[in-house]
Amino acid sequence: MLVDLDAPEGAALGVPFDVCISGSGPAGISLALRLAKKQHRVLLLEAGGLTFTQTSNKVYIGSNTGLDYFPSNVSRQRFFGGTSNHWGGWCHALNKDNFEKRNHVPYSGWPIKKEDLDPYFAETADILDIETPRVPDYLQLHGEDPNLEKIDFSYSSPITRFGIKYRKAIESSENITCVLNANVVDFNLDENADSVSSLVVSNYNGGGFEAKAGYYVLCHGGIENPRTLLNANRQIKHGIGNSNDLVGRFFMEHPHFIVASVLANHSHPAFARYAGVKQAGLETAFYEPTRNLQEKEKILSFGLRFRPKEGIGTAPDTSSFKTRLKRFICESDTLLPLADSAKGDSRVNCPYDFHIKTASEQSPNPASRIKLGKEVDRFGNRRVDVDWQLTELDKHTLKQSALEVGRVMARKDLGRVRLSNWLVDSALSFPDTSHDEVGGNHHMGTTRMATSPEQGVVNKNLQVFGIRNLYIGGSSVFPTSGHVNPTFTIVQLSLRLADHLDDALI
Ligand SMILES: Cc1cc2nc3c(=O)[nH]c(=O)nc-3n(C[C@H](O)[C@H](O)[C@H](O)COP(=O)(O)OP(=O)(O)OC[C@H]3O[C@@H](n4cnc5c(N)ncnc54)[C@H](O)[C@@H]3O)c2cc1C
Repeated sequence: MLVDLDAPEGAALGVPFDVCISGSGPAGISLALRLAKKQHRVLLLEAGGLTFTQTSNKVYIGSNTGLDYFPSNVSRQRFFGGTSNHWGGWCHALNKDNFEKRNHVPYSGWPIKKEDLDPYFAETADILDIETPRVPDYLQLHGEDPNLEKIDFSYSSPITRFGIKYRKAIESSENITCVLNANVVDFNLDENADSVSSLVVSNYNGGGFEAKAGYYVLCHGGIENPRTLLNANRQIKHGIGNSNDLVGRFFMEHPHFIVASVLANHSHPAFARYAGVKQAGLETAFYEPTRNLQEKEKILSFGLRFRPKEGIGTAPDTSSFKTRLKRFICESDTLLPLADSAKGDSRVNCPYDFHIKTASEQSPNPASRIKLGKEVDRFGNRRVDVDWQLTELDKHTLKQSALEVGRVMARKDLGRVRLSNWLVDSALSFPDTSHDEVGGNHHMGTTRMATSPEQGVVNKNLQVFGIRNLYIGGSSVFPTSGHVNPTFTIVQLSLRLADHLDDALI
């Protein structure tokens, strides 16, 4: 059933439900549907309506005080279906290594293993309608390189907009009551402050109700989950789940930067088959570092995206002497450094055929944070302040990704790779949003999963430490991010949480 809390008839919701889920993005809807299938009564609260409105979106407005980042009301969507109304559909599961502790990555290691999520792989693939195209191994590694390996990425196709795809199933479900324009604005805890007794829900007209259930699950997304908990400070001074000052810390993105430009060897036989192939016909290949390389170079994981440019395999235009000379210098490992140093402060402006982008894992860092700003929203809750920080380890990883592809291309004579200027600069600086993609709108880590409340906000079952019946869904629970897009893992975690709650409800 779908109910609109802004409409006059949006009322009779006072009956207790088994589970109250707040947020109807991929995390909330996957969880609701699985619980409903198991015959549990679910109250699904959604702050927005069926379509985008400025009224709802404005609640997401906030500030950025860290590295240059997207405005927080642009980087997510606040209506039915959540940010899946906007996402790109790129999908991949985390690999085994991503869950493990690595000595050179502080705060790494999940309290669960890949095997805990594997049973949900097939259903997640089905929910997200994924397909996996075959993409050429442009770098010709054939699984034999000790440092880099190609991985196959999947795509949601046709792209799954949760609000559109699952509206009918929710509307017709006897077990789900989905309330639109229902903003969770506060929590009521019991007298010991160790369980939730109800959620305070408001519409946009000054009305509302108290949502009651046996269990509550917050699925507001990786920025809003911590903001909601931090604002819930009426009964617990520093916010719910925040007794160790961890809510909002460890904010991670997937840094997305152009790390290098490629001057390709157009006459290499590997490229011959792409002569005349249009850009649209050239798909992106993904390469990631082997565990061996990560340990040797002490780096994070990364996804190097290699998409050659149209015209590769066709002889480049070298009609003028100057162009020929420049290519000659830029292709020479000996001449180029000499030419660079002769230029003084700047480097030779080498021609290039295409750029290489890396989307990297970000190191978990307590100083990278979602905080509360000074301004308040229409409900009196403090707006979000995003303080995104990257470290030397992040920059070192991005640089190594470029060096590795350079090594492979030079060794195989596929071309020459030139690192981006900012990467060879020793300062800890990064391009801003006017010069590069910067991030993927992936918001992770801010209510991290851990084995103890000293190390995180939720336990391995996603229950908030110290609050018996409150759980969290979404990528805010990721202790580390891997380099792959988060939604596949978000859905796997929601399905696993549904099974956990099913057991608890029996
Ligand atoms: C441009 C763009 C491209 C992306 N591309 C990809 C991609 O290719 N692959 C990928 O894996 N990921 C991608 N993402 C990220 C992806 O969209 C998110 O990982 C995913 O949507 C997160 O799901 P979620 O359910 O946790 O949160 P959301 O989808 O953000 O859903 C949160 C829900 O909670 C609701 N809500 C918030 N506050 C309240 C409140 N107080 N009360 C009640 N309800 C509330 C919101 O209205 C929303 O419906 C992209 C994101 C963007 C912006």
